[in-house]
Amino acid sequence: MLRNIIFYYLLFIQFFSIAQAKIDIVYPAQKSVTINAPSAFIFGNTDENSQFYINSNPVKLWNNNFFVYVVPLNYGKNIINLTSKKSGKEETVIYTINRNRPSKGTWQQQSFTPKPADSVLYSKTIKENATVREKPATASNRVVDLPENVILYLDGKQGDYYKISETGNSEFWIHKTNISSPVNVQKEIKPKLKNIKQYSDNDYDYTKFYLSHPVLYTIKQSGKSIKLTLYGIETENNDKTISPNYEFTFNYNTPILGFDGYYQDNNFIFRRAKVKEINNKCPLKDIKIFVDAGHGGIEKGAVGPTRVNEKDINLKISKNLTEELQNAGAQVYTSRLEDKKVTLSDRVKSAKDKNTLISISIHCNSLPAGKDPYISHGTEVHYYNENAKTLAEIIQKNLVKDLNLKDNGIHKSSFALNRSTNPVSVLVETAYIINPEEYILLQNDNFQKNIAKSIKKSLEQYILSIK
Ligand SMILES: [Zn+2]
Repeated sequence: MLRNIIFYYLLFIQFFSIAQAKIDIVYPAQKSVTINAPSAFIFGNTDENSQFYINSNPVKLWNNNFFVYVVPLNYGKNIINLTSKKSGKEETVIYTINRNRPSKGTWQQQSFTPKPADSVLYSKTIKENATVREKPATASNRVVDLPENVILYLDGKQGDYYKISETGNSEFWIHKTNISSPVNVQKEIKPKLKNIKQYSDNDYDYTKFYLSHPVLYTIKQSGKSIKLTLYGIETENNDKTISPNYEFTFNYNTPILGFDGYYQDNNFIFRRAKVKEINNKCPLKDIKIFVDAGHGGIEKGAVGPTRVNEKDINLKISKNLTEELQNAGAQVYTSRLEDKKVTLSDRVKSAKDKNTLISISIHCNSLPAGKDPYISHGTEVHYYNENAKTLAEIIQKNLVKDLNLKDNGIHKSSFALNRSTNPVSVLVETAYIINPEEYILLQNDNFQKNIAKSIKKSLEQYILSIK
């Protein structure tokens, strides 16, 4: 009996070690997933010289035997059979994808509790980057990220958000976790503006507002002017004509590059990057540029069908770009030159700390479940602020032309690496890692170099356009 068991056990081991053809499914990562869409893509790789089938349909194998396949999904449970056949041997893996019927939402409007009459709700921000939003919801647009210790007066509460008072026609909300517990106070003591001073250094023109206490602020660009609003303050001499909100408009006759505001103790500093004299022959000479290779370390980014990681492609392109820019005379700073994790806030902070004029973040695109990687591919540039739109347009136009990629246009989207108004920030989604042809291109040395060359050319054109 024992002998029989050992015999079958050995036979079992032998059978699998010989007959098992490799099927490496990269996506979906689990064998049972829910995808609520009419189709799902599956990608991975298999053995050399094998035939590959999904639900009995032959599947094209690309370089290095990878496949990218789209299966239609019915409502309920979809069984996906993935079979690899090689010299008479066969291996099948079964995946199940559930697709749920759309359910009716049970969203409820939360009611607004106003502050008590004849009193003021007083609070303070209790942490760095306390985000103020346009609506009482996490998905709502950001207005500003405040530092710690900013005085806020509140009108009332809706859900977990408080509404900030005296903000004129704008509505501003802050999540309860960002502020101290609001207390009712009888008399509103307003922060005062004591003085204003202007000064400059090599990179910026500064305007410093001397305040008795930090307050909520917003900075908005419109064409060639920037409006700074300091909310809820009074001037030292109680000038009621500018109370409660102090507005300061900066008008320029040159294009607006990077600008931002921050607190130094109680004093608010607005700064704007200087437009220096431009060297026509060598436009990038001495220009400070931040090159960010997306992801890194344990953050792989998207993973391609043969498990090449986005982070590694991003790094190669970024290194090429760094070299191109340095050869063109630019002063380049990078978020990473090796495979390591760098937090988003550290990336943004180092771009600012180095007083860079432009920040470029390099990525490869991928798709959410339910999309078709044969239809969605190509190149696109993401910007968020008005001052980065021209740069995004120039990079997009050149990448499409120089690399013969599908033009997905420029997109206004809010990512950590393009949300700041200083430096002028864009994020480039070079091409799609899960589109077979672009996946092959993205791994090609020349393609990586040509992306870098194209972006360098765009930066030169951008700098010349500032004049
Ligand atoms: Zn990415």
